[in-house]
Amino acid sequence: MSHEEDLIDYSDEEINTTDIPSNGAAAAQKEELAVGGGEADKKGSYVGIHSTGFRDFLLKDELVRAITDCGFEHPSEVQQVTIPQAILGNDVLCQAKSGLGKTAVFVLATLQQMEEKPEAGVTTVLVMCHTRELAYQIKNEYARFAKYLPELKVAVFYGGTPVQKDIEVLKNKETHPHIIVGTPGRINALVRDKHLRLAGLKHFVLDECDKMLDQPDMRHDVQSIFKNTPAHKQVMMFSATLAKDIRVICKKFMQNPLEIFVDDEKKLTLHGLQQYYIKLDEREKNRKLNDLLDTLEFNQVIIFVRSTLRCTELDKLLRECNFPSTAVHSGINQEERIKRYKEFKEFQTRICVSTDIFGRGIDVERINVAINYDMPEKADAYLHRVGRAGRFGTKGLSISFVSSQDDEAVLKSIEERFEVALPEFPADGVDASSYMDN
Ligand code: ADP
Repeated sequence: MSHEEDLIDYSDEEINTTDIPSNGAAAAQKEELAVGGGEADKKGSYVGIHSTGFRDFLLKDELVRAITDCGFEHPSEVQQVTIPQAILGNDVLCQAKSGLGKTAVFVLATLQQMEEKPEAGVTTVLVMCHTRELAYQIKNEYARFAKYLPELKVAVFYGGTPVQKDIEVLKNKETHPHIIVGTPGRINALVRDKHLRLAGLKHFVLDECDKMLDQPDMRHDVQSIFKNTPAHKQVMMFSATLAKDIRVICKKFMQNPLEIFVDDEKKLTLHGLQQYYIKLDEREKNRKLNDLLDTLEFNQVIIFVRSTLRCTELDKLLRECNFPSTAVHSGINQEERIKRYKEFKEFQTRICVSTDIFGRGIDVERINVAINYDMPEKADAYLHRVGRAGRFGTKGLSISFVSSQDDEAVLKSIEERFEVALPEFPADGVDASSYMDN
């Protein structure tokens, strides 16, 4: 059997085969709700005199208990604004900064709307995102919040794993999930081959929706899955970046959506994040990285490169220089990829070299340093990448290597688009207290 969807991994491509240089060293419907701005992005904007508590959302007791167990004390701004609308079943198009809790919005909103005794064998919630690790992470968020809803079954389906396993899960009423999280290639294959029926679907969610609808192959999959869902359902879409042209496309999937823009497009960079660049020659990158890893204080660091080959090479080089690193990219088999994701998330590894696979959505609490060993191609990608440091209002540091005219052009576009000044990294470094939480 050929599983062409197994080959699809939308998130990184072998676009560059250059070797790593080796220099020896290593509100009301249809209304736009613009919230925040100004002071709103200060750390801890989720705690305020006017802030509501999770209890005010009148969520099921089982959810409130799980939220408490997660240690969430106050809803973040995006949660305050969006959850009350989302639990009413409204379509929602939501843009808010990285790391401030968009996942909990759709996880809680869909769990809240589930029947007390969900019908066996019927999937009512489908959540899709662009990478397998993110799908896995979201599934775990469902598990966390559905902890006191033991009858609920959640499954994650993505390519790179035997499709037969998924088919078995779907065949049996006892194991058939009520909630499915997945990537579009595999989900589309399951729908197309009639293993997964979506006639009972009530909630259709896209995380990182701009990425999903921007890439033609993914958009095609999303559209064909969408066609197999009932006309009447709730559609919710989320991202930190939502360019105008993509918004138009998103809205084609929705009816009268509530558009929520928590943060001004231009002010999407994170408040607690110190951002710098370093100008250097390509061949100086390894030595510089080595120096930085020696001198910076970090809990966990993520290093972005532009190709799978560079990822493998750099990881190897770092380990040769006694830096305990791991690598994640699409060239690694899926089981191993998830294993490495888990180890990194659980703090068993502290340095991760990655392609853009980890450039969005991935939430690893202890990452406080993000390094662009290779500059991303676009300002949006930059914003998502550096947002891996400084999760939920914590402090962080990002350093981008600028080694070509193209890199300089991207740097300029970042400064313009997000109205942020990116200074050069000072020769004598920066005070660790500016990027390390106490
Ligand atoms: P986003 O999708 O907006 O980038 P996430 O949903 O990944 O952000 O959330 C970032 C982190 O913040 C996660 O570790 C999550 O558990 C945590 N978080 C979310 N909401 C809250 C809250 N209200 N209180 C404390 N932590 C939260």
